[in-house]
Amino acid sequence: MTTLRNLPSIEQLLQTETAAHLIARFGRPLTLDSLRQTLDDIRARFKRDPGVGLPSIDLILTQAESALAAWTAQTLHPVINATGVILHTNLGRAPLSAAAIHAMDVVSRGYSNLEFDLETGKRGSRLIHAESILQKLTGAESALVVNNCASAVLLTLSALANKKRVVIARSQLVEIGGGFRVPDVMKQSGAKLVEVGATNKVRLSDYQSALEESAALVMRAHRSNFKIVGFTEEPEFKSIVDASHKADVPVVDDLGSGALYDTAKYGFSHEPTVQESLQAGADVILFSGDKLLGGPQAGIIIGKKELLDKIKKHPLARAVRADKTCLAGLSATLTHYLKDEAEREIPIVKMMSLTLNQVRGRVEAWQNELRQGKIVEGQSTVGGGSLPDESIPTFLLELQVKSAEKFLRALRKNNPPIIARTENDRILLDPRTVLPEQEGALLVGIKNAIKA
Ligand SMILES: *Cc1c(COP(=O)(O)O)cnc(C)c1O
Repeated sequence: MTTLRNLPSIEQLLQTETAAHLIARFGRPLTLDSLRQTLDDIRARFKRDPGVGLPSIDLILTQAESALAAWTAQTLHPVINATGVILHTNLGRAPLSAAAIHAMDVVSRGYSNLEFDLETGKRGSRLIHAESILQKLTGAESALVVNNCASAVLLTLSALANKKRVVIARSQLVEIGGGFRVPDVMKQSGAKLVEVGATNKVRLSDYQSALEESAALVMRAHRSNFKIVGFTEEPEFKSIVDASHKADVPVVDDLGSGALYDTAKYGFSHEPTVQESLQAGADVILFSGDKLLGGPQAGIIIGKKELLDKIKKHPLARAVRADKTCLAGLSATLTHYLKDEAEREIPIVKMMSLTLNQVRGRVEAWQNELRQGKIVEGQSTVGGGSLPDESIPTFLLELQVKSAEKFLRALRKNNPPIIARTENDRILLDPRTVLPEQEGALLVGIKNAIKA
């Protein structure tokens, strides 16, 4: 009769060649852990139901290997974005340029002069690394890079408006996404919110009356992810700035997406640019590094030196500071703009600038390779809290499948996972957001999903 005594011991299992391989791959402590756990599971199952018998040594080792593989699997890994949403918030926003990746790679590998002045041999400042390039690019007096734009807003308001009044239009008290609400962040900073105007209409006189009492700041928050249409009114930003300056109150402009170029050039509507905000006279401008800029996750603060000095000195600045890889990747990304090569080098700008003919060429190549699918007209969007509802024409590969849901799941199970769109039980794949180097893997993945 089979009893638990027939179960091999850990020592016996360790003497096998397979166990030696597992130890080489996963290390001894974790391998031991998995063997123990596997034996415990088998014992428990056997006690519940002796009829199941005991597995062979090979089977025990296979079970342990599965546990080891699951424990050490990375949860964060690349996917293929065939949705046509260029800045997909859930898919990691902006893919980086080769130069940005290289810059991040080299500073990660070893030591760097992050806070070391090579001229004097003394302690330096990490703030200088992206600052000079941001100054050159935008003409701003001073600049600071932090963890993301949300922390840029929190830090700026904390440093400049704690316990003081901040005037903002009611129509701008928006939720940016993921529960990030401008009014909540303002309150968190200790600023006293002074809402002006109605949801759809705000006039210059609303700002002017609010400014009759002293205020620390006037703030504009860009409505990155929605539009107010119909019976609406909002003064020109320049006139808000002028009215604020007349009252001696500086203006903070939370631009969010931070375009350094005109998105209208690619067929989208115009998104306010950093340069326009500066020209209008904004004193401090905040924007993300990984939205329309196309760099690593970062929050960029530029503007008047006097105000930036206060922001840099605030204790929160240390808590939200950018790390060396971010500074390296961001500087490399900004250099593309300086050298006027953004369209060629920065993936998201390149995606936006693809012509319809180029997109069509890629879809045709996919269709030829797969010998399936129909080429249809569609729309690519920017996404990522930039340019609400904005889209540009594209060509899609449409696949007719039995169950769209099952097919999408099969695509997601691919290595790397493929994320596609569906509409009325048809699968739609947009080449605009598929990186050229992923095309081979994409086509293999689709073929396998079709077979399955
Ligand atoms: C996206 C956005 C933010 C937040 O930026 P993150 O980089 O995601 O932290 C803040 N303000 C505006 C207007 C935005 O569009």
